[in-house]
Order: sequence, then structure tokens, then C-alpha cells
Amino acid sequence: MLMNDFLNRVEARNPDQPEFMQAVHEVVESVWPVYESTPEFYQSKLLDLMVEPERQISFRVSWMDDNGKIQVNRAYRIQYNSALGPYKGGMRFHPTVNQSILKFLGFEQTFKNSLTMLAMGGGKGGADFDPKGKSDHEVRRFCKNMMMELYRHIGPDVDVPAGDIGVGQREIGYMFGAYGKIKNDYTGVLTGRSLGLGGSPLRSQATGFGVVYFVEEMLKNVGDSLEGKRVAVSGSGNVAQYAMKKLEELGGLAITASDSSGYVYDPEGIKGEKLDYLLDLKQKQRGRISEYAKKYKTQYFENKKPWDVACDIALPCASQNELYAEDAKELVKNGVKYVAEGANMPTTPDAMAIFKESGVLFAPGKASNAGGVATSGFEMSQTSQRLNWEPEEVDRRLKGVMQSIHAQCAEHGAEKKQIDYVKGANVAGFIRVANAMISRGLE
Ligand code: NDP
Repeated sequence: MLMNDFLNRVEARNPDQPEFMQAVHEVVESVWPVYESTPEFYQSKLLDLMVEPERQISFRVSWMDDNGKIQVNRAYRIQYNSALGPYKGGMRFHPTVNQSILKFLGFEQTFKNSLTMLAMGGGKGGADFDPKGKSDHEVRRFCKNMMMELYRHIGPDVDVPAGDIGVGQREIGYMFGAYGKIKNDYTGVLTGRSLGLGGSPLRSQATGFGVVYFVEEMLKNVGDSLEGKRVAVSGSGNVAQYAMKKLEELGGLAITASDSSGYVYDPEGIKGEKLDYLLDLKQKQRGRISEYAKKYKTQYFENKKPWDVACDIALPCASQNELYAEDAKELVKNGVKYVAEGANMPTTPDAMAIFKESGVLFAPGKASNAGGVATSGFEMSQTSQRLNWEPEEVDRRLKGVMQSIHAQCAEHGAEKKQIDYVKGANVAGFIRVANAMISRGLE
């Protein structure tokens, strides 16, 4: 069977799911040669199995707003693949959430979790609830009411959700509290919990730190270093914040940050007191990035993305499909040499092709942003042990996972001139899931 026939068939079965099909194309195009030439894989129809989630749950959540009005949202949990362990992946609260987006995220998550070498299957969930502008009470009521249904489908050995866009420690805490109340137990059913609720040190920092550790490996591999590198960062949420922190620590200079309203350009670097202000602005005040520009008198570009600045490295850390072909061309023109995804699938396929043609080293999210889920895996281990590891221990392990993922990419993505990180990550992630599925009798 030709690869295109396979992809057409998947598309026919999943109409109107562009994000899901985008993720499927990327993985299938990378792994097809391995798939086709491994009779055990091909005859087991493993790719047919892998593109189909094991279970998809969709449910209604009603809750009362502060004006006493009933609001209705739609929530989901996609239990994608449990060959390697309990389903594991974040919950996203954002008005754009739909089945296509969560299926793409769950599919990607399966291979990402495989790359960490930890015992975690792939899953993802969320709701079209927008926490922006909601009061604390409203967010709490929504989380509680959502858990009234979600609790039936999750558990520490079944499915362990975490955070994602719009879901941070506050939301995890509310969901964790509601689960405990309903089930009358105190267990590691969600990761990303605060330290006070038995979470892991550095879980909040882990995705951003991990991205920068991965970039460090990419640079080291070609005899370069982070020292003095100018870095364009998009987003100003959890991933972007801690990527900027780690950049500062390792000698790089973050020069941009953004949110869905625009971006700030600070050629002197978003660091020190300025970075602490940004963290406070986003974490506590829940303010807009334009306030950074006002406070520090830097340039602010409304409704623009930060891909037209001169930089050595670009880290897209906001959302899917935020870096298009024209942005890639602009970045290449302005000297970018390395791109690593902090977000999931922020780069469109056309943009990836431009980076490849131009010799820009490009790391896909399933490799470069796997530090978050790896640390969630560490959180699960600590919960089982009823122990908290020291932050240094978590950091050492996180770095080790990112180095191991880099090595797997190098092994499976080696090309004549440079590493093809997309191919390397997809093939390495796929092989481990494929072997586990075969060992489990394709269940
Ligand atoms: P947050 O909610 O903390 O921050 C998201 C940031 O991206 C905000 O600055 C937000 O701006 C911006 N943003 C969101 N949607 C859009 C959009 N459509 N256009 C422009 N900007 C947007 O989320 P995280 O930092 O946790 O997640 C960011 C990305 O990283 C996501 O793709 C997520 O899947 C991925 N990821 C997260 C992990 C984690 O551990 N948190 C782990 C691995 C991947 P605004 O506030 O204006 O909406």
C-alpha cells in the first residue's frame, strides 16, 4: 500500500480535522520507510491502529457564573495510546479547543512520552472554557463541575492529566481537590500539583528548562554554544517564562515575548528584574504583555508575532500553527540558525520545509518540549514513593532525559550534513510504541 493511499484513508475517516491530519502527516511521512520495511509492523497494521485513539470521551459541563447565570461548555478526554503506560497528557482550557486539536495533541503526546523512556502512554484533554477574564470563583466552579464527570475516566494507574494552555497550578489544585472529595482519596491522579499538594520540585519550570537544555545539546553537537545568542521567544506563559529563565542562566539573551495580543521587543534582553516582573505580571496579575512595554519603554507590536527580528535562535512557545512559511523566510533572512519548538506543532509544514532547505537546525516539540511530561513522570514516581526529591535531583534527571532524547534523534535522524530532528524524533518514538503494541498482542 502506498503511503498516500494510507493518508487519504485516514483523512476520509477524520473529515474536518486539519490539526489532527497535520500531525498524522508529519509522523507518517517520517516513519513510513521503517514501517514498510519491517514486516512485523506492516503486517500488524500498526499505523492503522496508532492513528485511532483507544477511547474518546466528550461531555457537557455546566457551571454558574458570578451573575448567577448558567454557562455550558464542552469538555473532552482523548485516551490515545496506553501501550507504554497509563494515558498521560495535559488538559487545555481555551475557547479554540475541539476534537481535532486534542486528537493532534494526544497523537503527538504518545510519541513524545515514548521518547522520554518513561512508562507513560499518550492522552490529552480539555475544554472550550476560557479562563481569561473569569473570576477565581468561576474558575473553581468550572474545575469542580468538570471533575464531576472526568473522575470516572481517570486514575493514578489509568490516566493522569496535567496542565497545558490555560491550566496551571491553580486549576490543577481545584481539579485535584474535587477528585479527592468525590473519590475520598488522596492520590497522584493529576501532575503539575503545587509542592504543598505533593507535586514535584521544578514541574512548573520543566518544559521551558527542558527546551533550553535541548537547544544546548543541538549547539554542542555542532561545536557552538548559547553564550551571547539572541533568542526570539513567542508566548509569555508557562513554557516561555521558564525558557527565558534558563536562557538567562546559560548565557543566552531572550529579546522578545508575546501573547495573543502582540509582542514586545527588548534588544537589551528580557532578564533579571525585567523577567521577574514579566513572571509576576503573567502569573499573579494575569496582565497583558503590552504592560511590559509600557513599564520598560520598549517597543510593542500589536497583533504581530515576533518572527521579524534579527536573532540566532527562535523558540516558538505559544500555540499550534503560529510560525508560517513567510515567518520562516523572514527568520532565515534575519540570520536564525536554530529553531526549537516549546509549544506543540507551532511550525507549519511549509515553514519546516524552509528551515530544512536553508540548513536551519529544527527541533520538533515532541523532542524539545518533552521535559514537562518527563517531570510529570518524576512526579508520579515521587508520589508512589511518598517522597519529594531535591530540586537538584529533578534537574539532573530532566537534563539527562533531554540529552537522551537528543541522542535518540541523532541516532535515527542522522543525515549526511546534519541531524534531521523531525525524522529522528518520529522514528525513535514510533519504534518504542510499535514494539510495545506488538508485545501486548496489539491490544
Ligand atoms: P500558557 O497558557 O501558560 O501560555 C500560553 C501562551 O501562549 C500565552 O502567552 C498565550 O497568550 C499564548 N497563546 C495561546 N494561544 C495563542 C494563540 N492562538 N495565538 C497567540 N498566542 C497564543 O500555556 P503553556 O505555556 O503551558 O503552553 C504553551 C504551549 O506549550 C502549548 O502549545 C502547549 O501545548 C505546549 N506545552 C506545554 C507544556 C507544559 O508543561 N505547560 C508541556 C509541553 C508543551 P494569551 O494569554 O494572550 O492567550
